[in-house]
Amino acid sequence: MLIGGGTVIDEVGERPADVRVGDDGRVAEVAAGLTPRPGEKVHDATGKLVLPGGVDPHTHMQLPVGAVRVSDDFASGTRAAALGGTTTIIDYVTPERGEDPLGAAARWRTLAEPSAIDWGLHLSFTAVVAESVVAAAVEDGITSFKLYLAYPDRLQVDDGTVVALMRAARRQGALVTLHCENGAAIEELRREALAEGRTGVIEHARTRPPLLEAEATSRAAVLAELTGAAIYIVHVSCADALAAIRAARERGVRIQAETCPQYLFLDETRLEGPDAEDFVCTPPLRPTRHAASLWAGLANGWIQTIGTDHCPFTRADRRVGTTGEPGGVRDFTQIPGGLPGVETRLALIWSAVRDGRITAADWVRLCCAAPAQAFGLWPRKGSLAAGADADVVVWDPERRHGLGAGDLDMAVDHSPYEGMVATGWPELVLSRGRVIVRDESFVGDPGWGRYLARSPLSPDGGAPVTGR
Ligand code: MN
Repeated sequence: MLIGGGTVIDEVGERPADVRVGDDGRVAEVAAGLTPRPGEKVHDATGKLVLPGGVDPHTHMQLPVGAVRVSDDFASGTRAAALGGTTTIIDYVTPERGEDPLGAAARWRTLAEPSAIDWGLHLSFTAVVAESVVAAAVEDGITSFKLYLAYPDRLQVDDGTVVALMRAARRQGALVTLHCENGAAIEELRREALAEGRTGVIEHARTRPPLLEAEATSRAAVLAELTGAAIYIVHVSCADALAAIRAARERGVRIQAETCPQYLFLDETRLEGPDAEDFVCTPPLRPTRHAASLWAGLANGWIQTIGTDHCPFTRADRRVGTTGEPGGVRDFTQIPGGLPGVETRLALIWSAVRDGRITAADWVRLCCAAPAQAFGLWPRKGSLAAGADADVVVWDPERRHGLGAGDLDMAVDHSPYEGMVATGWPELVLSRGRVIVRDESFVGDPGWGRYLARSPLSPDGGAPVTGR
């Protein structure tokens, strides 16, 4: 197939060029003025942008949370991802405390088989594990781990565990991702709020203040400095945490940061509205001024990636633990936290290109290239270089597409962006050379997606080793 006449945007830059996709599902060549070969299909991309498929480094498909479960499974979630221009996800294996991590990873691989796009896995640890477990996961292509500094009842690890696992990860060439909030302090604030009868949804934000995200981020950075581990802070939501990250980078800590669209486009006032439950995520939405800092961080390279933390729950499931009736008492601690997002990331961030906040090259770097680089998928994913997987998006910069639940394909009955209309949406999406989305219709198949064994970090601890 020849995708001709478009403007290619990738790590090389933005230029008029044609993209030839080989029969092997890889990019064959990218150059201006390519001539169609006999029998070759041609897609006219005149006036369109041609970019590597989106790489979402942070999703939670099908995850059980307390009494409920994330409403997207791997089939529905990856289909929605593809419709929005994302062709790779890296999902978090989240074992229950006490569950064997490698057993959980094996379970996730079975759950993920119906994926419509390629997928990799991160693995969370809730306790110290034998280094052989870390080594076995890396051998299986799970080259990043997650540690939670929050959620004491289910997931949190103490600082000694962090040190031990950072040391093991460093020796085994793995990246340590961290959820940074001070879980013990938050637990006390929640206890106080409930004791004082402050049970409304806004208390979700009041009891998880930016200060406690910054403290945990700063602590994670210090422990990375101590151990020499490479770390990646997920879902940075506030100026305070970003300041801690910048300070750590300046003293040479190997730290990368991710933010998510919800922290850029939504704010804390949503937690005081009538549908407040629908906006509960963790960290919580912040006062508007924090988004300005995050945009500066994206434009200046202090934040490397944008992931979604895709973690949708139906409206009913969000309210399972609340009384729900008007004027009734709602206990904010019972609401499952997480927002839908895997389908809308590219469109939302593209809107920032149109608004002049970031460049088109930034958009592709943040959403496609950098996540692949950070997690050992480069240059197979996130790149249009010859030999890369032909995961290609033809982006129509003028196509209008609603962002309400009725316009979207995620398996959830509400949207955080209800009433918004994006200008810019994919017209064609390829996964390994196969068209899986054409004109907003999904034409792929569940199970087309393949497991991605990811590369470990290189021995010097720098960029991941490529070519695995
Ligand atoms: Mn998450």
